[in-house]
Amino acid sequence: MSTVEKPPQKSGAVPTGESFAEMALKLGGKSDDEARRTGAIDKADDQVEELFKPQYQTVNSPAHRAVWDHGVPIKEFTSEDFSTPADVQAVMDKSIDIVRRNRDGKTLLDQQGKIRNEVIEELAGVGYWGLLVGKEYGGSGAAFRSFAPFITRMAQVDPTIGGLASVHGCIGAVDPVSSFGNEEQKRRILPELASGRRLSAFALTEPGAGSDLTALKTRAKLDGDHYVVNGEKLFITNVLPGRTVGLVCLIDDAPAVLIVDLPYEENENFQLRKYGLYALKQAYNQGMIFKDFRVPKENYLHVDRGNGLTIAYHGLNLGRIALCANAAGVMRGMMASMVPWAQYRVTYAEKIAKRELVRRRLARMAGIIVASDALTHWCAGLIDQGYRGEMECIVAKIFGSEFLKEAAVELFMKTHGGRSFLHGHLFGDNVHDLLAPCIYEGEGEMLGMAFFKSLVKAHGVQFFEPVGKALHAAGIRTMNPMNPMHLWALRKVAPPYMKWLAGRKLSRTPSPELPSSMPSRLRSHAEFACHALQSAALEVDGLMQRHQLKLADRQCQMSELSLRIQSMIVVLATALYGSRKSELIQDAASVFCSTTISQYKGRRLSDGQHKANNKLGEAIVDGGWKSFATEVPDEILMQY
Ligand SMILES: Cc1cc2nc3c(=O)[nH]c(=O)nc-3n(C[C@H](O)[C@H](O)[C@H](O)COP(=O)(O)OP(=O)(O)OC[C@H]3O[C@@H](n4cnc5c(N)ncnc54)[C@H](O)[C@@H]3O)c2cc1C
Repeated sequence: MSTVEKPPQKSGAVPTGESFAEMALKLGGKSDDEARRTGAIDKADDQVEELFKPQYQTVNSPAHRAVWDHGVPIKEFTSEDFSTPADVQAVMDKSIDIVRRNRDGKTLLDQQGKIRNEVIEELAGVGYWGLLVGKEYGGSGAAFRSFAPFITRMAQVDPTIGGLASVHGCIGAVDPVSSFGNEEQKRRILPELASGRRLSAFALTEPGAGSDLTALKTRAKLDGDHYVVNGEKLFITNVLPGRTVGLVCLIDDAPAVLIVDLPYEENENFQLRKYGLYALKQAYNQGMIFKDFRVPKENYLHVDRGNGLTIAYHGLNLGRIALCANAAGVMRGMMASMVPWAQYRVTYAEKIAKRELVRRRLARMAGIIVASDALTHWCAGLIDQGYRGEMECIVAKIFGSEFLKEAAVELFMKTHGGRSFLHGHLFGDNVHDLLAPCIYEGEGEMLGMAFFKSLVKAHGVQFFEPVGKALHAAGIRTMNPMNPMHLWALRKVAPPYMKWLAGRKLSRTPSPELPSSMPSRLRSHAEFACHALQSAALEVDGLMQRHQLKLADRQCQMSELSLRIQSMIVVLATALYGSRKSELIQDAASVFCSTTISQYKGRRLSDGQHKANNKLGEAIVDGGWKSFATEVPDEILMQY
């Protein structure tokens, strides 16, 4: 099923214009307000879809097709190697050199512990801030397949500077103007952003609107040649006077984006709300209060179909890949610091590097790094091809943030023991930065439900919506398959669904067409993942059948199934990616996939799996870590 036929609307059933989710909420007893809010988000989501060619929309994206198509589209899960053009590579190499030199010379931070202005300017001088800006507007027009792995490289040297490139280029003003600006706006705004004369931020969150984007209160009203903005934003990274902000606000009650050049000083119309924030402490994160703040009307970004949330979702997808890429870099730093410590620390007359528990942690770290790399490369490739990539970028974001948390606490902190909490330790100094990605750019469980919603939407519209409408028209609230009246009410709409269900239950899952060069152990993991993804169609459908219009309330079931499906997507992407890499990377990919599959099956690890973990951990200690990390490990603290 690669395309979805929209069923004809039946008059008198449900008022037209209501989405499946909206109807489900209403019929499920939710308030009109909640149904309207959900409908608004659904509408924005539909409008984002329309920005993409049909073959690149969600129903035709690899994650969606892996579940609903007959057979998994393996080619769409395979990331091709990409060679970065020399001029872009030069910008990247020079940027790394600058940050490394400042880090080593201890000149990266100012007295407040923030990235020094001079470093930001030096980076501007070599083109760092213009990486994602098109060449015609003064940038280097890097492909996302170049940019995302570069963020991994930069994050090994300094994760905050890597993160700021994403804040500026993905979610800040660069992507909104590049993707939605008119030619005049691009010519006026992008060169400023490319040169770094103006760094940018993205302001969506408000005191009362974080997860719930329908609760936005900041408003802008047209007054002559200006929009007049009133409202407050909170938690905005990279905000300082003089910077440029992609401001999401309500214009005529609909979300919109204004590109706002902040004044160089606070004034009666614009003030910062300052607070202490542990996370992202080397960058600025502040609130903004606008009181009758005037923005030239030509800074309004017009969207043909859609609104400001359309623009926000577009940039967030890129930011989510960059977040995973950043995590891959940070975890490399952790691995590089675990190895010398594990070789140095002796307990019970033996180096801890010889111990299975410690080796298993190193093996797990290696596996998570390879999986993060796999997701980064795969998703970046999809974006460059023109895919919307919503579901795939959510998988990358959740994986990058949740496994960074696991790596930090379960693997890194536990191996370093008490020293993890010393001033100057990578864990102790950065623990908030290691956890915060679970929250920003969408909290993981909320995103897991968004993933699930994207997965069920077309199936619901095609099969469940007609059923819901027919039941509603017949005044039936809860379907009883034994009641002939109920069956009669469904006589026209049930057959297509029954046909789909029978076809899915009776037909055999086709064998995936995996590359012939794939090593056998990775092949078997990929085959398992394909089978699990194909089986998920009936699991998802079963959940929809069981809960029908109450499904929106069954968050725990949705969340659990969403995570299971995501885990198999990660296994498939990792097995395919790993199979093109060195023997050691293949080992790491295999160990990761095999553990994930055991967890999926609810089984304990076998002796063979423990042995493979131990062997991989040993290889990493014996120099294998250099295949992952480019930076020299930290010095060991408190060497007694
Ligand atoms: C370090 C950092 C940097 C940030 N940078 C930016 C930035 O640059 N720009 C920007 O706009 N924002 C930024 N944010 C804000 C961030 O995106 C929000 O914190 C995030 O979206 C969650 O919103 P909230 O904090 O208001 O949580 P809330 O909306 O208060 O939600 C709290 C929790 O409640 C639960 N929850 C909420 N609603 C539901 C529901 N319907 N069902 C089930 N559970 C629910 C979820 O677990 C959620 O995490 C940043 C935040 C941090 C910490």
